[in-house]
Amino acid sequence: MLVTGGSRGIGRATALMAAERGWAVAVNYHSAKAEAEAVVATIRGQGGTAVALPADVTVEADVGRLFAEAGAALGGLDAVVINAGIVAASMTLAEMSAARLRKMVDTNLMGALLCAREAARILPRPREEASGAIVFVSSIAARLGSAGEYVDYAATKGAVDSLTLGLSRELAAQNIRVNAVRPGLIDTEIHASGGLPDRALRLGKLTPIGRPGTAEEVAEAIVWLCSEAASYTTGALLDVGGGR
Ligand code: NDP
Repeated sequence: MLVTGGSRGIGRATALMAAERGWAVAVNYHSAKAEAEAVVATIRGQGGTAVALPADVTVEADVGRLFAEAGAALGGLDAVVINAGIVAASMTLAEMSAARLRKMVDTNLMGALLCAREAARILPRPREEASGAIVFVSSIAARLGSAGEYVDYAATKGAVDSLTLGLSRELAAQNIRVNAVRPGLIDTEIHASGGLPDRALRLGKLTPIGRPGTAEEVAEAIVWLCSEAASYTTGALLDVGGGR
């Protein structure tokens, strides 16, 4: 399994959980090398197989190298979790700079497209073998729209949902399943280092289940969708959002 953005948050929880369940894992990182290496050390310490691989998912050459190195290190790839993503400060679209919009689209959409393209080239397998799996990490923002907060982010995740639906049909004949997990408010560093800001905590209170979710609660859904336990599930957009 390759996890993009595996150095922190949901990606890290996914890498650790997958390794506990027997997957060999390639942990991609961009800036957080020490964190990615710590994830790998934890997995190896438990007798698992893992490797940390740098790549900026917005750079085509990086993505090509990442998939080649992951395949070589793990003896082939059977699942790819396209998780790397960013959010930015809450504001209206009228207030957003073009630089912010470009970075958002580049990371969350172009990054997902480049990674999915490599996965589509690498994962195909005969029918009689276990299926290959692609899992996108989208967001419930894709359907909420996030008005007045970050419509740019929501738009990129809406596009990821469309990509999930289209690609699931495109790759079904090649025995690759394609699904998305749509987290709600999850307590990770994407919100602020050291904990959720007041606004996010308030949103947690607005979540029917009454609290933010954990990265592990999202990882459960991702690892399941990667596994053969989900062998008939493709084209699904699975909310892990506490009822929001
Ligand atoms: P974190 O900020 O904790 O982690 C983000 C990860 O993405 C890091 O590992 C980071 O790598 C990586 N990353 C960012 N940009 C790049 C890049 N250009 N190339 C490669 N890796 C990159 O965020 P979360 O774990 O919270 O978010 C993970 C995914 O979940 C995102 O797609 C996010 O949109 C989605 N999500 C999160 C929600 C939440 O409430 N937390 C809600 C809904 C969706 P590094 O640190 O090495 O730079």
